[in-house]
Order: sequence, then C-alpha cells, then structure tokens
Amino acid sequence: MAREFDVPLFFRSTLVEKFKQRGSRKEAEGNSLPGTLDFGPVQFVLARRFGFCFGVQNALEMVYRIVAKNPGKRIFLISELIHNPSVNSDLLQRGVRFLMGPGGERTFDFSNLTAEDIVVIPAFGTTLELEDELARCGVDLRRNDATCPFVKKVWRRAEMLAKENFTVIIHGKFSHEETQATFSHTVRSAAALVIRGYDEARIVCDVISGRLPADRFFEHFGDRVSNGFDPALHLRRVGIVNQTTMLAMETEEIADLFRRTMAGKFGEQALAEHFADTRDTLCYATYENQTATDELARAGADLAIVVGGYNSSNTSHLVELLANYMPAYFVCDEREIISAAEIRHFDLDRKEVMLTSPWLVARDSAGPLRIALTAGASCPDFTVEKVMRRILEFFPEAQALKASAQ
Ligand code: SF4
Repeated sequence: MAREFDVPLFFRSTLVEKFKQRGSRKEAEGNSLPGTLDFGPVQFVLARRFGFCFGVQNALEMVYRIVAKNPGKRIFLISELIHNPSVNSDLLQRGVRFLMGPGGERTFDFSNLTAEDIVVIPAFGTTLELEDELARCGVDLRRNDATCPFVKKVWRRAEMLAKENFTVIIHGKFSHEETQATFSHTVRSAAALVIRGYDEARIVCDVISGRLPADRFFEHFGDRVSNGFDPALHLRRVGIVNQTTMLAMETEEIADLFRRTMAGKFGEQALAEHFADTRDTLCYATYENQTATDELARAGADLAIVVGGYNSSNTSHLVELLANYMPAYFVCDEREIISAAEIRHFDLDRKEVMLTSPWLVARDSAGPLRIALTAGASCPDFTVEKVMRRILEFFPEAQALKASAQ
C-alpha cells in the first residue's frame, strides 16, 4: 500500500528520511540489508526498515486532522493512539484526552460523554462491548475509526474460520488492546482461546493429544476462553490467527505444532477437516521490520539500541532478536541516555526500567564504535535522530551530521 500520509512535520527527520530513501527503488525492493551512518569514531548501523508503519501513519493523519478541524470540541481517544509516549504526550498537550489508561482502567466517567463529543478508536481497534457502551452514550464512532486495516484483516480471517466452524486460536498478548479487540470480535461468532506463545501452544496440543487432562487446560486458560468453552468439543477443529506484531518465527513454529498434533490425532488425510492453515495474519510491517532486524543482527555491532514505547509489542520483538547477538538496549527516547557511562532502559525479562553502567563499550578497542540502531513501528524518525545526536555528544571529534550513507 504505497500511500503518502500527512503526518506532522515535527515527527519527521530529514537525516533519517534521506537515509531510508538511499539507492534506487529497485535496489530497495526486497533488500533487507542495513546501512551505515559513519561519523568517524562512531558508526550507526541502521536497519533497512524501521519506524512509522501504514497503520500508525493512518491513525496519526486522522487524529491530527480531527484536532485541526474541531477547535473547541472535546476530543477523546479510547486509549493510547499508538504505543509511543512522545506521540501520546503531544496529543495530550493539544487537549486530546484518553478515556482509558494503558491497563484498560477508566480515566473518564463515560456517563459524562455526549453526542457532541468526538471519540477516536485507536490503531489497535477496540472491543465490541466498548463500542456498544459508547454508542449508548450517544457517541458516533464510525466516522472516527483509526483501526489499522491489517488488524481488521485478522478479524475477517477469524470470521471466515468461524463460518467454517473452526475454533479460533488467537496467538497474542491477552492484555494488549489489539488482542482484546480481536478476542471480542471473534467470540461473537466462534469459540476462541488466546495463547501467549509456543509454551502455551504446547499445553493446548498436549490436551488435544490426551497427554494432559482437560482440567489442566482450564488452569492455564480459564480466563482466556470464550463462554462455554469445552476442550473435548472445541479443540477438534482449530485455526490460528495472530496479533499482528508477534514474532514471525514463533508464529510459524506454533502453526507447525498444531498441524503435527492434528495430523497425529486425526491422520494426515483428515487434516484439512481439523486444522485451518492460516499463518499470514502478521502485518507487512512486522515481517519487514523483523527481517531487517535479523540482517542488522547478522551485520554485527558492539551494541544495539532499539527505540520505541515500552508497551510496544512490535518493538519488544526487535529487542529480542538483537539481544541474541549483542547487548541490546530498549529506550523510549534520547532522555534515557543519561551519560556515556549510564543508560536507562527497559528490561524485557524483568519487565522494568533499569540502569546499566557501563554501556557504551566497544568489543574491540581498535576501529570505530559500531552501534546497531532500529525502532518500532510507532516510533517517529525524529526520535531516532535525537538518539543519534545524544550519543554523538559523547564523541566531540565526530563529524557533526556530515555522515554519508553507505
Ligand atoms: S504494526 Fe501492522 S497492524 Fe499494527 S498499526 Fe502498523 S501496519 Fe497496522
């Protein structure tokens, strides 16, 4: 979908845009290799693809247009528009308010909403229950729906599975707004279950093949199944859809595990009756950014920095990919880089922000320091540029932004 969006200029970076547009269109097509911005004593090795995706730009364009066209009106977002703190705080400064916090807690009394208010559905979509409740308050959501088309594609896929009487297994993070929305849309027409990753897929498959009793199933998934879910009945014919931002490799492994399990239980010849092979519900940005990050990891560097919101699912997977190869620091913006000695960053295992010192360390003291750099699909290019500028402050001899893209 090649479309130009009207995204506010202050999210853009001429330096980063120029770098992304290097080479001819033909060279860029299907090319996931990183490039280097060389500042002399420090080099940034940037992923081929990162930053704002289609759905994020679409949501930003819609909300900033609504804000510009409706001075004096109350404008609400159901929750964060996207998972990026600088974008959300800019919207708050412009008077936009959130109805709910990041954990789903209500921050505004819905009974005070009126038909005059504008309420925008974020890029992740929302639940049908919330849509119904807001409609009862008189709010018209249809004109202000920023749900990404790739999320809606997952809902359509789940709907197709439901029509064919498949149980829908949703691979995603249950607390994530997108997975909540997908679950809500799915359970209106199908039995459904949410699994977090491969380990949980294995538990479900062990129940299917009889290695685990059904009560173990409910111990794990009791709060993540549709009403009246019966493993004996509903795990005989299954299809999988994904939260759009999961790890591509894991989605493949999960689909293969279910395929093998169903073939083992019902036989290869009856497989199509029991397993719908729908493994294409990650979005294009997830595939492209993860492929480019794989290449970035393989290119090698002394350390990696991944920029994005700490609650951003797609960004966290980029960190996981890089952390297999080098120290990888997940930062929300340049302010996390406290000094050349100390960095504040989000630790995915501990699920908390922590300080690390030292961090700006070369593996090999000869030659320039090489820093692998990428960002999530909701991160503005300008934030990536500010991270580079902050690091360059520690290298007075660096050539000030006269770098050449190679
Ligand atoms: S990451 Fe994918 S699904 Fe999410 S908003 Fe971007 S394009 Fe849409």
